[in-house]
Amino acid sequence: MLRRLILYLSKAKWARNMATRWGAARRVARRFIAGETIDDAMTAARQLNDQGLLVSIDYLGESVNAAADTEAVVAMYRALIARIQKDQLKASVSLKLTHMGLDISEDLCMTNLRHILTDAKANGVPVTIDMESSDYTERTLQIYRTLRDEYGFTNVGTVIQSYLYRSREDMRLLATEGATIRLCKGAYLEPASVAFPDKADVDRQYVEIMTDYLAAPPPAFLQMATHDEAIIQKAEAEIRGRGLPLDCAEFQMLYGIRTPRQLALAAEGFLVRVYLPFGDAWYPYFMRRLAERPANLWFFVKNFFGR
Ligand SMILES: Cc1cc2nc3c(=O)[nH]c(=O)nc-3n(C[C@H](O)[C@H](O)[C@H](O)COP(=O)(O)OP(=O)(O)OC[C@H]3O[C@@H](n4cnc5c(N)ncnc54)[C@H](O)[C@@H]3O)c2cc1C
Repeated sequence: MLRRLILYLSKAKWARNMATRWGAARRVARRFIAGETIDDAMTAARQLNDQGLLVSIDYLGESVNAAADTEAVVAMYRALIARIQKDQLKASVSLKLTHMGLDISEDLCMTNLRHILTDAKANGVPVTIDMESSDYTERTLQIYRTLRDEYGFTNVGTVIQSYLYRSREDMRLLATEGATIRLCKGAYLEPASVAFPDKADVDRQYVEIMTDYLAAPPPAFLQMATHDEAIIQKAEAEIRGRGLPLDCAEFQMLYGIRTPRQLALAAEGFLVRVYLPFGDAWYPYFMRRLAERPANLWFFVKNFFGR
């Protein structure tokens, strides 16, 4: 119920306008974002790299409705890729198709993606296409496959959400295609017609998909994006139990969440990548983090009124 309310607020314009006007809200959101500028992102990425963690940098934003606005987004990603190369960071980038103009036109979105992916490929930077709500699942997979198969971008991967009924079959196909896939539970408000309403089913399907994908032959590569301790331990047991190399897959967690666990996994020899968002469009991202964990809501309220 609370999760549904917060996810509703994450999309409500009036709520975003109210929250983003308050400096206190911005300060609290900073727990989950690197900052607002590219320099903030570079500083945080360097600190994480120095601690043995990889990063995936996301320029915050989604649902762009004017073609001209996507130009600034593309320019920012190209600048980001150039800085990653210049600063020799161990970093990939993550992006959203609605930030690239998918709601305006698929052609515009593809053109924007090709500019970014061309730079990224030339600089050896991997790109992950984040998965948004189920309205975009089919188009996201289709665009991912077009970029990979028709344009030859070997540096692109995408995301599958275990809450969707369709995901098991999607992953079965993606394994045969040798895809690089980030597996997460899913962060959007979805109807029971497309997604499991019960968390136990989402978790069960996550483990089933994860176990199958770990058995897929390379170049299929799994990025296990979760903070769920039970699942992390199952993944560790699966990799060690099968005698797979520790770098056969990658753990991914969000910036500011379970940092000691991120460091412990890296110290054990696993690949760990931190999803590192930056930019001033922090509101929907921050609200999805609140929805995931009611304790964060109390953290927010305490800090918000405490200042
Ligand atoms: C690297 C990464 C990339 C992602 N990309 C996408 C994407 O492209 N599309 C998408 O829909 N979703 C994405 N997500 C979000 C994901 O779908 C989940 O909403 C989110 O990760 C919470 O699920 P969980 O697996 O951590 O498990 P949960 O069952 O939600 O949480 C398990 C435990 O993790 C801890 N935890 C979880 N969330 C938080 C939090 N916000 N604050 C503090 N502790 C927390 C708590 O201890 C909790 O008990 C991504 C997540 C990660 C880690």
